[in-house]
This record gives sequence, C-alpha cells and structure tokens, in this order.
Amino acid sequence: MATLEDPLYVVLDGKRTKLLLSALEMRTVGDLLRHYPWRYERRGELTDIESLHDGDHVTVQAEIVKVTSRPMRNRRGTILEATVIDGRGELTLTFFGKGRQDWREAQLKPGLRGLFSGQVSTFRGKRQLAHPDYELLGTGDNTARAADYASEIIPIYPATSKISSWQIAESVRTVLEALDIEDPIPRAIRDRHGLCGLADALHGIHQPADDGHRRRATHRLKWDEAFTLQTVLAQRRLAATAYSATPRPRVAGGLLEAYDARLPFELTVGQELAGATIGDELAADHPMHRLLQGEVGSGKTVIAVRAMLQVVDGGGQAALLAPTEVLAAQHYRSITDQLGPLALGGQLGAAENATRVALLTGSQGAAARRGSLLDAASGRAGIVIGTHALLEEQVQFADLGLVVIDEQHRFGVEQRDTLRAKAADGRPHLLVMTATPIPRTVAMTVFGDLEMSTLTELPAGRSPIATHVVPAAEKPHYLERVWERLTEEAARGRQCYVVCPRIGDGPRSDDTDQLYGPAGDGGSLDGDQASDTGRPPIAVLDLAAELETGPLAGLRLAVLHGRLPPDEKDRVMLAFAAGSVDVLVTTTVVEVGVDVPNATAMVIMDADRFGVSQLHQLRGRVGRGRHEGLCLLVTEAEAGAKSRQRLDAVADTLDGFRLSRLDLEQRREGDVLGAAQAGRRSSLKLLTLLQDESLIGDARKEAQRLVDADPALAGQPALAAAVRVLLERERAEYLEKA
Ligand code: ADP
Ligand code: MG
Repeated sequence: MATLEDPLYVVLDGKRTKLLLSALEMRTVGDLLRHYPWRYERRGELTDIESLHDGDHVTVQAEIVKVTSRPMRNRRGTILEATVIDGRGELTLTFFGKGRQDWREAQLKPGLRGLFSGQVSTFRGKRQLAHPDYELLGTGDNTARAADYASEIIPIYPATSKISSWQIAESVRTVLEALDIEDPIPRAIRDRHGLCGLADALHGIHQPADDGHRRRATHRLKWDEAFTLQTVLAQRRLAATAYSATPRPRVAGGLLEAYDARLPFELTVGQELAGATIGDELAADHPMHRLLQGEVGSGKTVIAVRAMLQVVDGGGQAALLAPTEVLAAQHYRSITDQLGPLALGGQLGAAENATRVALLTGSQGAAARRGSLLDAASGRAGIVIGTHALLEEQVQFADLGLVVIDEQHRFGVEQRDTLRAKAADGRPHLLVMTATPIPRTVAMTVFGDLEMSTLTELPAGRSPIATHVVPAAEKPHYLERVWERLTEEAARGRQCYVVCPRIGDGPRSDDTDQLYGPAGDGGSLDGDQASDTGRPPIAVLDLAAELETGPLAGLRLAVLHGRLPPDEKDRVMLAFAAGSVDVLVTTTVVEVGVDVPNATAMVIMDADRFGVSQLHQLRGRVGRGRHEGLCLLVTEAEAGAKSRQRLDAVADTLDGFRLSRLDLEQRREGDVLGAAQAGRRSSLKLLTLLQDESLIGDARKEAQRLVDADPALAGQPALAAAVRVLLERERAEYLEKA
C-alpha cells in the first residue's frame, strides 16, 4: 500500500522507477499521479473490417486465423503478423519487437476471438493495425463486453521520447491499485462543496468511467490545488502577525501634516480611505502587509509618500524600491520637489523637523553613492529611493520602518524579503503597489499573503484619453496624418511620446528594453502573438533620424532608451519634463510611472508587438494634466487578425481591470504567477485563475477558517503533507533559478 509521498520504487519495479525519473523527473507516487492526461481518446466505434478507412481509430471484434513471425531485414528484432477476420473482411495486425516475440505468439492463438484497437493504415495493399491494443475474449458471445471495450476512455499523457503515453498509463494503473491515501480536504469541507474524495478523483482523472466521472474528478483536483495554496497563504498571513514591528503612529505637527498642507490638490475618496487604513496599520505593533492596486494614474505615489512621512515622523526610515532607473530618478525628483523645505534636512532654508531624501542606483557615481549610503546608514535620510541597488549588502539603515515597492510585478518575493531583512529589529511595514490593476483572483493567488486596497477612481479633472488604431498597411496616408497631429500638438506648446519596440543599435535578439525578468508581464510579445510583417520591428534610433529630417523637421526631438548612459538618460528626462523637448522617441522605459503632465499625445509604433496591459500602462503617460490625451496605435497587422482585435480592445475601453483580464486570457498561467510557480513542477496544473474565480474564493475562505482554528494543521496530517510538498517544490524551483 502506498501514499502520495512514497517513492515510486515502493510500487513499481526498479527499471520503471528509473525510467520515470530520467524521463519526467518523477520521484514519488504523488509526482506520477499529478501527471494528468492532456486528452482522452475512445478506442473507437466497434467497426466492420470491411468499412475501415485509413487514419481512423477503431476497434474491431475478430477471430485470429494465422500468426507468422520473421526477423526484420535491416535491424535486429522480429515482425509478428497476425491475420484476423470478422466474416466480412480480413485485417493484418503488425507487431514490431526488439527481440523474439514468443510470448505474444503464445497469446495470439488461431481460433481465439479478440478486440483489437488502433489506427488503420494500408501497407502493400493490405489493411493493417500497427501495434494495436488488444483484449482476447476466448470463444462464445461477447457482444456486451465488446461494446464496453470499444467505448472505454483511454488517457493520453504528455510523453517524451524516452517514455510513451502507454507506459505512463500502465505505471499509473499499477500505482492506483496500490494506493492507500488520506484525504487532505476535510470531510466537512468536501460535503459543503460537493467534492468527491481524493482517491475517487485520482481514478476519475486517470481512468474515467465516463465524462461525468472525469468532470467531478477535475473539479475536485482543482480544489486541491487552490486549497493547498490558500492554506499556505493563510499560514503566511498568520505568521506575519506574529512578527513585531515598531509602531509609527501619526504625530501632530509632523512632516505628514506639513506635507498635506502643501498638497496642491484634494485627495480622492479612495486615496483618503486607503491612506486611513495604512495610517492605522503603521501605528500597530505588528507589520503591515498591504497591496495597493489601482488604475494607471489613480495617484498611488501620494499614498506611498504619506505613509513614508508618517514613519519618518515616528523616528524611522522608509525605502522606496522602483523597477527602473528612470522611475527611481523621477520619484526622487518629484518627491523632493513636493517636500520642498521639508526635505532639506541639515541645509539652509530647511523646515524645522526636515528630513532628507537619498537616491541609490547602480550607475551612480562613487561620490554620490557614498553620500547616499552614509545618509541611509546614519539615519539622516528619512526616505531612501532606489532600484535593485537598494538590495545590495552594503546598503544599511539606521532604523528601517517601512518598505514600499513600486510596480511590484517586476520584483519577486525573495527581493521583497531581502529588503525587509535590513530592518534592525522586528520587521518593517510593507506596502506593495502594482503597476496596473489585476483581477481579484490573480491578486488573491500571487499576492495572497497581502491585504488589499484598491483605487478605482481617477482624480477629478483628469482629461480622458482618446485612443485610435492607425492601420498603416491599409491606409499609408494615415501615418502622414499622425505626424501632422504631433506637429499641431507641439504648436500648442504640448509634448508627445513616440514609442518603438526596438532600440536599433544592437543585434535583434538583444535590442529591446527588457525591464523584466522572465516572469515579467511586459516586454514585447513573442513572434507568434505579434503580426509577422517579415521586417524587424521599428527602432527608436532609425525612426528618430527619419522624423528629424522628415515629417517632424523643426521640432525638438530627443531619444530615450535603456542603453543610454545613466546621466544622459537623466538629462533627457529632465529636459522633457522641463518642456524643452517636443517629441521624445523612446522605448518602453517610459512605460511605468513616468509623469509629465504637459505630454498630451503618444504614438505607439508596431503597437501589435505590445501586450494589452502594457499598452494601457503606456498610454497612461498622457492625459495626466488639464489637456485631453491622445494615443495612436500604429500597426501593420491586418484588420480582423487577432493582434488587431487586441488593439481594438485597448482603443475601446479605459477600464484597466477589463484589459488586464483580457491580457491574462491570452497568456499562460505561468507567466502570471511568476517564476516560483511557473516551472515544470508547477503546482497549478488544472486551475485557471480567471475561470475558477469562485472556486478560488471558496477555497480561500475555507483555508482561512481552518488555519484560524488549527494554525499548525495538527489535526490535518494529509493537508500538512500536501503543504510540505508544495513548499518543497517552490524551494526547488527557486534554487534551480538561482
Ligand atoms: P499612479 O497611480 O499611476 O502611480 P501617480 O501616483 O503617478 O499615479 O499620480 C498621477 C498624477 O496624479 C501625479 O501627477 C499626481 O501628482 C497626481 N495626483 C495624485 N492624486 C491626485 C489628486 N487627488 N488630485 C489631483 N491630482 C492627483
Ligand atoms: Mg506610479
């Protein structure tokens, strides 16, 4: 008898165990049983031999009349041929063997009847089945058995060149017979949600009696995935409350009050609410773990700054981690601007309780870097802003009280933890902000250990963004009109972005601004999703040169991309922000967070090469001020093509939640979940985050209830084992990646 954690050799012979390990990296009974069929076949209708067609999958009931065996001509091994008849026609069964096939010859005795199933082909004018499945019936009337056999559902497994689907099926059959398992989902929960038992489900997915059985099994096994994951997340949430943190309550007369008084606008209701929740959590003696998500332009940064100031008022420091240098530099500039005299700590003209803001990036000069490191370590800087450079070992804080992560998609959980570990004692509070809105179930799964605040509205007075698709292939003159529009905007004193998918100074494979790791949500799409025009994607450097001497001659152009030296990048962004550049030709480095209110138009070249959420994020850079925004999606994709439909969807709605759903529907789950769950041993095999929304919600509630009552899962050994397996798999993935 075997459990899911038992090694396979407990049930299977040594040879098969080795094969499963080398071909599919399977070690345990659970590994094998969680390798689900990717489709099912029926043996095929019970068919007369006379009416067979090449290519059909069929089962025939027939009598063996002759068996012959001969050596193969060019290789070692034998060919065994059996001739069968059903009274209407004749058929050859062919078996190829590496050695002699005496055992088979002994089985296939002339005179016996049997069921033979396989795919029909013709060889030298004769109908044959190569390597058919068969079941011998003996003699007599077997009509009922024959019909059953023909309609049986055959699982087809993901196989490799080393191991066939058939061999996997055979191993599964052996293992299922020996299975003796406890159910990780408690009885009461199964009853409440109408779930079948685990053993039944495993039979139902590998050897379904009928379609209903298979469906019940799939549903139950999806529950397993959701429930185990949500149990882990509930335990993490609970463990987090056990950490202590230094409380940073609001202080009367502090920097936060002074900042609020300086704000040139009213907070939106959503900002007020999220701000109040965060303010309360910072005052508690255990760490905040909060995800702030919201529409592009909904004003997340202000909330972060207010949280950071509350912590500084409480004697602590705050770190703000940004995904790119452009964004870190912009945050640094805009936050120092907004703070004015409040950020001049130690300098002339400073406010009384003023602090300092420090910037730390990888490409900074040595002197600036030394200064920032010192400000962070001494505690002189209340706010430290930076990129990945913040994670380095030399970076130390006097008293780190809050970690803010902007645009979370690009940082993994490990990076989050690296930064948190820099707090002296206890844990710092954590605020994570997403770049774009994400569907609830994704948030519940990917950020399931965080509490959530959502901003759904934009600040009042925001101008709408009009988006149009420009079909450059069908209507070339539209493109001329695009450049005229930009000239008109510039004439009105407004500024524009022109975004291209490629930089243009490197080999094609390495010529984008890939801001994200392999699990990121951005970057250009693969060729199969983009329209294939046969030419390389439009490049910043090429287009800028063309525009400068052609349609945009006379305007002030500048280029921006990830391979510019950092101070050049800075200089360009500053010039654009200051209004001394009319048109910025750029890669997606402007995608996240860049905020220049006077920019009103954006042209996206080869727009079909970008993802839906990415386009939405990009166009969020315009229409941030008083003037209406315009976004033009230039594409050569044909009308009706899938990539064109995606662009139409972006043009049709400004609802980021809707677009992110659409985006996710077109990606594999792994891309959504991030590296930890995307690997070969992915823990989500059946669950799809978008379609299984209510199931995930139910599983989350049940898991929370169970963990509240029994945090260590002492009364649930089977569930505890499933959790262990999940965590081990996660760790293995992480190690593999590192
Ligand atoms: P995102 O949520 O996309 O990060 P930002 O925080 O960059 O958005 O805010 C976008 C712009 O809106 C900024 O220029 C910011 O100063 C401004 N803003 C934020 N809150 C408000 C508000 N309540 N009223 C008016 N403007 C606001
Ligand atoms: Mg932002």
